[in-house]
Amino acid sequence: MSKIDLDAELEAAIVAVRDAATVCQSVQKNLVTAATLEKKDQSPVTVADFASQALVCSSLAKSSKISGVVGEEDAAELRQPDAAATRDKVVEHVRGVRGAAVSAEQALDWIDLGGLTPEGTEQPYWTLDPIDGTKGFLRGEQYAIALGLIEHGRVVLGVLGCPNLVGPDGKPGCLMAAVRGRGARALPLSGRGQEGATAIRVSDIADASLARFCESVESGHSDQDQSAQIAKALRITAEPIRVDSQAKYAIVARGEAQIYLRLPTRKDYREKIWDHAAGMIVVEEAGGRVTDVRGNALDFAHGRKLANNAGVIATNHKIHDAVLAAVARFVDVS
Ligand code: AMP
Ligand code: MG
Repeated sequence: MSKIDLDAELEAAIVAVRDAATVCQSVQKNLVTAATLEKKDQSPVTVADFASQALVCSSLAKSSKISGVVGEEDAAELRQPDAAATRDKVVEHVRGVRGAAVSAEQALDWIDLGGLTPEGTEQPYWTLDPIDGTKGFLRGEQYAIALGLIEHGRVVLGVLGCPNLVGPDGKPGCLMAAVRGRGARALPLSGRGQEGATAIRVSDIADASLARFCESVESGHSDQDQSAQIAKALRITAEPIRVDSQAKYAIVARGEAQIYLRLPTRKDYREKIWDHAAGMIVVEEAGGRVTDVRGNALDFAHGRKLANNAGVIATNHKIHDAVLAAVARFVDVS
């Protein structure tokens, strides 16, 4: 039995992800411009990434009983003298949410709260991707703030903030939240608490040929040639939905696609826990199934990486075995 008060932690996670989403939206509005796009300038996403992690960590430090956070970022780079311009922008955006009294040192320390080393940890911990889908963020498309709670190598809670997905109120901004054994829900991103929460379910299509699949926009993150072969073998005629970030899990969870394929492009690549914890539990609690390309459950007991898994397959459950059989024909799962 878990000793975690999951209701309280869910409340804390929702507040934390909302704060981070606010800052990401503000950076996207103010710093992502035609000029940054043209120059392929990464600096807006750098600012949003750090500010998002500062806000999630400071929010959790206040409201969560679980102090450990495994975040994707740390502030070492921002503490360098030549990072002053970026650091100032990060601090400015953190102040925009937390108030003018926040010092630069405080903001950097908040980022470093995400520095837990999970290897060998017995205690539960959060894992955070402050901006998942950085390329989508820069293009003004999909990205996500992803926060998962891991206990004894299992994900027990997840909150996914998707500022550019339409929420259950029909307006832009959707939050997806799931607690192990208690289902998954969508909430308006801009709401308060759990107002407007709506249960979500995966699609009930049982014939794989009628399915739609989603995959990364970036061909370096998932093998798109293999996914096309797999789709053909399953007699899928619909075009793939290419979306950045864990918004792919959200799309499967609410039944807009039935399959998410993440097929390794390199044999030695190991997925990061923060890229999957929140999305996986949202899909599972919406009735779906998530495994790696070999059909094994994702195993969160090995530190920062899913060391024992390769790739990810998420489906509406009913067609999972058919999809795995097709994957095994085209992907080297050895
Ligand atoms: P997506 O938006 O689904 O394309 O995934 C973005 C995530 O892909 C980032 O957060 C990275 O951690 C991760 N990533 C980076 N390189 C690879 C790779 N070679 N294979 C799979 N994922 C990767
Ligand atoms: Mg990521």
